[in-house]
Amino acid sequence: MSERNYKIAVIRGDGIGPEIVDSALKVLDKAESLSGFTTERSYVLAGGSAIDSCGIPLAYGALETCQSSDAVLLGAVGGPKWDNVDPSIRPEKALLALRKGLGLYANLRPAIMYKELASASPLKNSGDIDIMIVRELTGGIYFGENGAFDSTEVMADGTVKGRVAYDTEAYSEGEITRIVRQAFEFAMGRRKKLTLVDKANVLRTSRLWREITMSLSAEYPEVALDFLYVDNCSMQLIGRPSSFDVIVTSNMFGDILSDEAGMITGSIGMLPSASLGKPGTPGLFEPIHGSAPDIAGTGKANPLATILSVAMMLRWSLGEVEAADMIENAVKDVISAGYRTPDIANGENGEISVNTAEMTDAVVEYLCNDLH
Ligand code: NAD
Repeated sequence: MSERNYKIAVIRGDGIGPEIVDSALKVLDKAESLSGFTTERSYVLAGGSAIDSCGIPLAYGALETCQSSDAVLLGAVGGPKWDNVDPSIRPEKALLALRKGLGLYANLRPAIMYKELASASPLKNSGDIDIMIVRELTGGIYFGENGAFDSTEVMADGTVKGRVAYDTEAYSEGEITRIVRQAFEFAMGRRKKLTLVDKANVLRTSRLWREITMSLSAEYPEVALDFLYVDNCSMQLIGRPSSFDVIVTSNMFGDILSDEAGMITGSIGMLPSASLGKPGTPGLFEPIHGSAPDIAGTGKANPLATILSVAMMLRWSLGEVEAADMIENAVKDVISAGYRTPDIANGENGEISVNTAEMTDAVVEYLCNDLH
């Protein structure tokens, strides 16, 4: 067996998940044979398919299989079939369990606009968009103390408070340092610009993020650092998207801004993501979209987000950077050549309408061409 042999846990998931994961693995097969590495794949059940076969959203032993792999590739989970299951076993519980069990604290969401698809963007003349959003994934308000109680307190206008609910945002120096350091490292490998997005005019946690980020910036003198309040950033992403390089931010702000950034590229079926933990531990790679139950089984699913997720896996977890470049170039080539699944078709001259399998075959073909 080759020294460059990697263990991958594969979660095909629900809806279009199996179709797009199989496509991505076909591209991975080709990349392996061209680059000379190998992968051993273990299929694990998560989401609706796990609920159907084991009664729980993450099958027995699934987390352990993922933990002992070099990386995890995921399609998408969920769908209307499981919308009314008991909340304690909802399909997305599998994702939370995986994030926690794998210690995935950094979520990387590239938002890249392909110039040939610019007409699908709601923004016109926005220039080249290539943004990497680094979102903190395991802290902040989604994981802070929360609660609810009844209050009989009367407010100044005479209204009784009644039911009260609260969620707490807390961040530690350790949590902030590890993600901001990672963001500086990404910026060093890109255009050397880093924007910290926060709400430091209001939130104490944001002021801690600023202090720590400013002190870390001394270690990265080549990186141009700036700060934006989250409300201003949400406007600037629309006003001047091409001026951003790497954005680092907290869990909730990152959740919202990464969806906004994805939307301005105009193609949900094209955007991959990575969730990473401590260096040397397995990352989780998945498209940003969901299981698209409305088109499952029709051959309309765009497999490119999952294929690009494989490229991210090769780059960030397996260290097969050349193969990652090769796949990303092949995707650019098929887009330039005019191949379009229905979600990215806009009826322009020269378009070649394709289904999931044909798009996959086009990427495989261009992978080979890239070598010559
Ligand atoms: P969705 O992303 O699945 O679909 C939104 C729209 O985009 C749909 O019209 C769909 O057809 C289209 N779309 C999505 N991916 C596409 C692709 N690759 N090619 C072509 N078109 C594509 O979001 P939704 O409809 O809100 O959610 C559907 C299910 O997915 C829900 O059960 C939700 O909970 C789940 N979900 C899962 C994940 C995940 O597994 N990480 C993420 C988001 C949503």
